Amino acid sequence: MSDQTRFLLNENDLPKFWYNIQADSPVPPTPVLHPGTLEPVTPDFLSVLFPMELILQEISSERYIPIPEEVREIYKLFRPTPLIRARRLEKALGTPAHIYYKYEGASPSGSHKSNTAIPQAFFNKAAGTKALTTETGAGQWGSALSMACQMFDLDLEVYMVKVSYTQKPYRRILMETFGAQVFASPTNLTNYGRSVLAQDPQSPGSLGIAISEAVEVAASSGGAKKYSLGSVLNHVLMHQSVIGEEALKQMDLANEYPDVVIGCVGGGSNFAGIAFPFLRENLKNGQRTRLVAVEPTATPSLTKGIYTFDYGDTAKMAPVVKMHTLGHDFVPPSIHAGGLRYHGMAPALSALVDAGLIEATAVRQTPTFEAAVQFARAEGIVPAPESSHAIRAAIDEALDAKEKGEKRVILFNLSGHGNFDMTAYESYLAGKLEDYEYPAEAVASAMERLPKVALPA
Ligand SMILES: *Cc1c(COP(=O)(O)O)cnc(C)c1O
Repeated sequence: MSDQTRFLLNENDLPKFWYNIQADSPVPPTPVLHPGTLEPVTPDFLSVLFPMELILQEISSERYIPIPEEVREIYKLFRPTPLIRARRLEKALGTPAHIYYKYEGASPSGSHKSNTAIPQAFFNKAAGTKALTTETGAGQWGSALSMACQMFDLDLEVYMVKVSYTQKPYRRILMETFGAQVFASPTNLTNYGRSVLAQDPQSPGSLGIAISEAVEVAASSGGAKKYSLGSVLNHVLMHQSVIGEEALKQMDLANEYPDVVIGCVGGGSNFAGIAFPFLRENLKNGQRTRLVAVEPTATPSLTKGIYTFDYGDTAKMAPVVKMHTLGHDFVPPSIHAGGLRYHGMAPALSALVDAGLIEATAVRQTPTFEAAVQFARAEGIVPAPESSHAIRAAIDEALDAKEKGEKRVILFNLSGHGNFDMTAYESYLAGKLEDYEYPAEAVASAMERLPKVALPA
């Protein structure tokens, strides 16, 4: 019997390939539509925003895509990340369950987002791009891309959701330290930003609005600037597969296999990163791991949204995709998990939830922070508010196992640390958090504004 706590891989265990779920998914990919014509997009349309290599990855059905050496070299600054058995949390809960977490907060920017920021910067640099534009919610994506752009000598403009810009000044300063330019969105720098401000000068912003601004700047740059997205797209989910591939090897080192794998979902990328390699084992190698995606009750796209075609952004400039959505004009409440405030969900993940291969659940903000603090006090890491949704669900699994007297093996993704999220913890500790429930009527009214897509049967 071992009492090992950390399960570490060597540098040469770092994956050499990304895993593409499209190769094994039993549900066919759904078309990506032009926001104006609502016809399937051509690579030409996408090439205004993305370099060709990323477009090819986006539509690829190859199972394994090689990770370039230049990318692996930078991954090695923080990967393989540790897998840790949460023994002290198990003890605090008095559960017979074994709880493991994969710690993506070990990256320099503090979250899993570096896993895709680095290859996106690399493939843009290789294609001759001079500058990138992007949005950021909580600031984790902006931080990760700032670091990656710095390493590949690319300029970066970040449109940061205004509510986060005010809540998290130190995230902005981190991005600026890496050399990025950061704007509070909505800005008066774009046509779309100006139109939002004209209607509502106090707009707190939203990811949908910030995406529209970043897309507008790239699309009107005459090719000098490209746009980069930190979640939702197939190529982003694929880059995150390094998390699950490493975790498979590490569970092996621990001599266990998870009964359940848990991750929080905003656009779906960190969850897909840890879960899709385990889904492959379910589909191809007879494993039966439950895969659970956890979202906030304030932005419950998977549990309350509709699975249908919708715009990826508020201004209807980004492609229309089939996903679980709350409506592209949804402005979410100002919950502290800024990275989970997106109206939609990755199409690849949505399709798998719709097919019943992945479970979804929603948790409220206060119990989520209770779980975060319990975890911090047991394990010594203050988790990101986003990741804390996964912790809430993992603790609930462990308590359920305790009630049933089962030895359940639980693996969750700790997608980031919360060291920049002290405002959120301050509110929680002062008893000032609010619990938002998404009103059902809001879905019905948002659906009236969906694109009218007529697809051939
Ligand atoms: C951005 C972010 C998320 C949510 O995004 P996904 O694409 O759903 O992973 C979750 N956790 C952290 C720490 C983040 O930075």
